[in-house]
Order: sequence, then C-alpha cells, then structure tokens
Amino acid sequence: MTADDEPTSVIVVGGGPAGLSAALFAVKNGLEATVFDGDETWMHKAHLFNYLGIGSVGGSEFMATARQQVDDFGADRHQGEEVTSVASTDDGFTVETEDDEYEADYVVIATGANRELAKELGCDFTDEDVVDVDVDMETSVEDAYAVGAVVRPEEWQAAIAVGDGAAAALNILSKEKGERYHDFDVPADAERVFGEHVAE
Ligand SMILES: Cc1cc2nc3c(=O)[nH]c(=O)nc-3n(C[C@H](O)[C@H](O)[C@H](O)COP(=O)(O)OP(=O)(O)OC[C@H]3O[C@@H](n4cnc5c(N)ncnc54)[C@H](O)[C@@H]3O)c2cc1C
Repeated sequence: MTADDEPTSVIVVGGGPAGLSAALFAVKNGLEATVFDGDETWMHKAHLFNYLGIGSVGGSEFMATARQQVDDFGADRHQGEEVTSVASTDDGFTVETEDDEYEADYVVIATGANRELAKELGCDFTDEDVVDVDVDMETSVEDAYAVGAVVRPEEWQAAIAVGDGAAAALNILSKEKGERYHDFDVPADAERVFGEHVAE
C-alpha cells in the first residue's frame, strides 16, 4: 500500500512472457498491475520444446494460457493498446498510450527487442546496447525495471524472460514489504484456489 492507502500500482509495458510473468507475480501478491501489449510477441512464431516442465507447446497456445492466468489473478490487461511514452514523475511514472494517460508507482519495461521507451525514460544501456540491469532487474532509473529480450543481447529464451519478470516483481514486493519476499504456495493453497479442479 502507498501512504494514502491506495494499492501499490505497477504498469507493465509489453505482454510477452517477460511482462506477463511480472504482472502475474505482482497481482498474485496484492499489487495492482496494468499491462499494455501490442501483441507482437515473438512467441507467435515459436514452438517450445525447451521450456522446463512443458514437453511441447505452441507459442501462441502458451500465450493464451499465460493471458488467462494473469487475467484470472486480476491483472488489468489492455491488449492492443500501444504505449507511446513513459516518463518518471516526483512520485512514480506517467505512461501515455494512443488512447489515454496512466500513472503508477512502478514501471516494468518488457518491450522485447524494442528498447526505445527505455531509452526515452533515461535508463542506462550497456556497451552491447541493451538496458543495463542487475539480478533484481531494476534499471538505473529508480523503480523502473526492464525484463526479457530488452536486457539481453541475443540470448533470448522464453524461460529466461519469465524468470526476469518474476525477479522484477519480487523485487518490487520486497521494497513494498520492507524485507526480502518470495511467493511460495503449498498444496493447501491449490485446494483453496482451485477447489475440486486440483489434479491428483
Ligand atoms: C522464430 C522464433 C522461434 C523461437 N523459438 C523459441 C523456442 O523454441 N524457445 C524459446 O525459449 N524461445 C524461443 N524464441 C524466443 C522467445 O520468443 C523470446 O525469448 C520471448 O518471446 C521474449 O519474451 P519478451 O517478453 O522479452 O518479448 P516479446 O515476446 O517479444 O514480447 C514483447 C511484447 O511487447 C509488446 N510491445 C513492445 N513495445 C510496446 C509498446 N510500446 N506498447 C505496448 N506493447 C509493446 C510487443 O507487442 C510484444 O507483444 C523464438 C523466437 C523466434 C522469433
């Protein structure tokens, strides 16, 4: 919660695996997450045989499940709404789209190999011309995170993107809770959330 008791808000720019993973961890743990996505994810061209725990899945099928999952946990997903600018303000960020203007406490840039918005926001870049982050995925701009292909030269994989998004959201949660945070569930949680639908 912020000082005025508004829920902490996170805007995620880009709804590929990296952005949706950040949104999932955020909403599942009590933050407000809004995702803007142009639906140009590379996953629509991919078929995964290398995502641990899933033998074989089409990229678009993977995305459909991921979208349903973040929606079910309460993310506000604006499919097809392109972000045109991101700027930091005194107490967070302003994000402009083709349709409207939005504000949030945190921003996660997950725009794939398109790094223009991160550049515009003023994030530092590495010598290899990708957004510079550490293992928490926070950029040089405080409370702005970058995840997935936007931070990696060529070493692009869905599993890595998903891990990046989770790391960013957990770091935001750690900041908000004032101590290192993790999102662990146990079988009783599955029964509580999914009831009779839980697999044996
Ligand atoms: C042909 C091909 C095959 C592949 N095969 C595999 C494979 O077998 N296994 C594997 O692990 N990986 C594979 N990949 C790589 C995998 O698809 C990427 O690693 C992954 O999609 C990167 O995720 P991301 O979220 O960083 O970016 P993306 O998936 O590219 O998603 C970025 C999203 O951000 C949106 N966006 C960008 N700018 C804006 C904006 N201004 N406003 C709103 N939305 C915006 C885009 O529309 C897009 O939907 C393959 C890629 C390709 C091209």
